[in-house]
Amino acid sequence: MIYLDSSATTPVRREVLEAMWPYFTGEFGNPSSSHGLGDSAARALADARKRVANILHCRASEVIFTSGGTESDNLAIKGIALANPRGRHLVTSSIEHQAVLESCDYLARFHGFEVTVVGVDELGAVRTDDLAAALRPDTTLVSVMLANNEVGTIQPLARIAQLGHAVGAAVHADAVQAAGWLDLDVSALGVDALSISGHKIGAPKGVGALYVRGRVPLEPLLHGGGQEAGRRSGTENVASAIGLAVALELANAGRSERATRVRSARDAFIASVLATVPGARLTGHPTERLPGSASFTFAGTSGEAVLLELERRGVLVSSGSACAAGSDDPSHVLVAMGVEPALAQTAVRFSFDSGASEGQLREAALALRDALGAVRGIR
Ligand code: PLP
Repeated sequence: MIYLDSSATTPVRREVLEAMWPYFTGEFGNPSSSHGLGDSAARALADARKRVANILHCRASEVIFTSGGTESDNLAIKGIALANPRGRHLVTSSIEHQAVLESCDYLARFHGFEVTVVGVDELGAVRTDDLAAALRPDTTLVSVMLANNEVGTIQPLARIAQLGHAVGAAVHADAVQAAGWLDLDVSALGVDALSISGHKIGAPKGVGALYVRGRVPLEPLLHGGGQEAGRRSGTENVASAIGLAVALELANAGRSERATRVRSARDAFIASVLATVPGARLTGHPTERLPGSASFTFAGTSGEAVLLELERRGVLVSSGSACAAGSDDPSHVLVAMGVEPALAQTAVRFSFDSGASEGQLREAALALRDALGAVRGIR
């Protein structure tokens, strides 16, 4: 099997599982318990928080452990918007993950917020001039992702943060796909909130973190025992928090060297696909994209059919619409980039980390040519 779907999820790394194991077994305490077993869980949780904070270059008290990227996005957007009496205007982009778009929509429907959705160019980069024009004195929050999950385009976040701050808005970035590839230094990015998710970087599914700058007020979504300094009640998932910290450290070590290596394998893969597959077109930015991301449209096919033919040949990928569970609507990201809906239906995303060898990518390119021949032959 050649797994080229790491933007969907990744396997748990052995070092991560081994670091988590004691907290499922001997050290199973509840961090809120006053006895020794509880103390040891509380210390482990504090250590995990500090380690995540080191990667994000923030204070440990600014890290909230969550159940994943979706919860981090929901807590950032609803939590900041509802706590902030400034105004009822939000700005986001047309290529955000549903966790962001639906959170904004919820605030519009139930809390009277006005949402401006800023468009992107044909390479999937947010139009910063349009964003600047959308900002108002009553804009509470700007939420733009650091890198897109479907086409990999890296967003001009530092500029976006500057623009947002100029009107006094808080700025949130969904860094779920960027983690492990890009620097997550929140000061360098200039953001007030940042979401990450464990299962994209070798930690388990169901854990994530949200950074929120100390002075930014946050309304909790989950009420209860007051864990996570009152910002996210519920007994802490100690083992997974440790897993997330270890996975982040592993992903950060040697990050730029790994990115260079994967980027060059990715570029060779893209060149081979464009040269050998009739009708193949790269989607997203040719250079300003995540190193492990290659996404295409294949005119005259269907993304789902290509995916199935690739799977028959042992190659696992995503079709363009895979992120919305079970949906076969054309990808909102590609449509926002100006791709015709019919062409958007033919999208296929290949995503990988350093686990995919150059040999595997060559095999995948051959399998793709074959798969497309089969799809086109049966039409
Ligand atoms: N944001 C982005 C950009 C994503 O790609 C994903 C998952 O694919 C999420 C948020 C949601 O993360 P999770 O699966 O941890 O809920």
